[in-house]
Amino acid sequence: MEQQQQTETACIICGQEKEEGIVIVSHFICEDCESEMVHTEAEDAKYRFFIGRMKKINLQKHA
Ligand SMILES: [Zn+2]
Repeated sequence: MEQQQQTETACIICGQEKEEGIVIVSHFICEDCESEMVHTEAEDAKYRFFIGRMKKINLQKHA
């Protein structure tokens, strides 16, 4: 196994492991989803979708 300097870099939105992205409250969000979120922030429906998605993934992590 390789030594990993980074911790988990699996995007909490799309679930894919990526190197480029941001970390929001210890949750990694890849570039694609981050830009998607920025674009959808004004759109309430899509924004809610992302929030719901995050909560779902958080729950899965606890399971
Ligand atoms: Zn993503």
